[in-house]
Amino acid sequence: MGENKKNYVASHIAALPKSGIREFFELVNNMSGNVISLGVGEPDFVTPWNIVESGLFSLEKGHTAYTSNLGIPALRKEIVKYIKSNYHVSYAWENECIVTVGVSEALDIAMRALLSPGDEVIYTEPCFVSYPAEITMAHGIPVSVPTYEKDAFALTPETLVKYITPKSKVLLLNFPCNPTGAVMDLENLQGIADLAIKHDLVVITDEIYSELTYDNIEHHSIAALPGMRERTIFLHGFSKAFAMTGWRVGYACGPAEIIDAMMKIHQYGIMSANTTSQEAAIEALRHGKKAMMKMRDSYCERRNVMVKAFNEMGLKCHLPKGAFYAFPNITSTGLSSKEFAKGLLEQQQVAVVPGAAFGASGEGFVRCCYATSINEIYEAMKRIKLFVESCKQK
Ligand code: PMP
Repeated sequence: MGENKKNYVASHIAALPKSGIREFFELVNNMSGNVISLGVGEPDFVTPWNIVESGLFSLEKGHTAYTSNLGIPALRKEIVKYIKSNYHVSYAWENECIVTVGVSEALDIAMRALLSPGDEVIYTEPCFVSYPAEITMAHGIPVSVPTYEKDAFALTPETLVKYITPKSKVLLLNFPCNPTGAVMDLENLQGIADLAIKHDLVVITDEIYSELTYDNIEHHSIAALPGMRERTIFLHGFSKAFAMTGWRVGYACGPAEIIDAMMKIHQYGIMSANTTSQEAAIEALRHGKKAMMKMRDSYCERRNVMVKAFNEMGLKCHLPKGAFYAFPNITSTGLSSKEFAKGLLEQQQVAVVPGAAFGASGEGFVRCCYATSINEIYEAMKRIKLFVESCKQK
């Protein structure tokens, strides 16, 4: 290359850090021996057979072409029916619903459809690693609002209001939350909705974990609160509740004007979501509930084992009411979250994710996914206890 070599990579992408999770998993992949991973956020279950079979039938029937850009009509009809009965919001399948390549794509096209350069997007932290990156890639300004252990990591209107400025355009919510397992009660959610209306914010609500709530908690969608439907984009998918991460299928519902803008980006960038996966997703919505509830009950049992073990070994851990992550406080060990995760991996071959990977307010915690087999969880907790004891002896 000559002296005059240009910077080929766009400056805002060059400045983007790589995901802290991926960086950590490079370490895990290079370890030999019996590593137990509580790291990756996905179900250990294989997709229920009736759903898999629908995908196979779809291929057998020769359904190998593109679908409508917005997604197969039968799937969109099932989606709006599902949302109506479970979240109490009505959408028109014709123009208020788009099928995407997972919630990941839905999030991406929502950001790109809404943001002009310099618009601020408020999101809660600790959060899913993609959020600040997605905002930056769409030329928005990420504004993180910390959530606290004392509030069980829920967002309170009192905290949110401090971060709203005249440039605030979007509020991005994720409850139940990755990585904290936090859920929102109706009172706080109503307070958040009041602020969104008062300050004319668009809300993107990522409800990918909404079926996975425990202890008879009722999940409430902000989209269902008065005055919110017209300013909310509801994101959901099949990855978590139906154990379908690899199928890559999700969706967004919202006001026609916004879905139409998202559709343009999707149409030029993606064309249509995977056909086989869309047909399998129809089966998931029509007949997947029983299998989903069984998986959920199993996660609940595993959660109880994990959280109890953390508290017994002296790592304070709040009881997460949703998703499938425990988020214990590791400050009593005197280690940073990265030191804890690295030391645990090296000494006891257990992989957890440092809380700092989910933003600065995740420091002092680690994320442990309990969508892992119960036997592995028992073994992992034994090993973590040994590691924590070794920290105390230092
Ligand atoms: N949102 C959250 C909060 C997540 O945790 C994840 C996956 N870890 C996603 C979105 C992406 O999900 P999908 O597989 O549907 O793209």
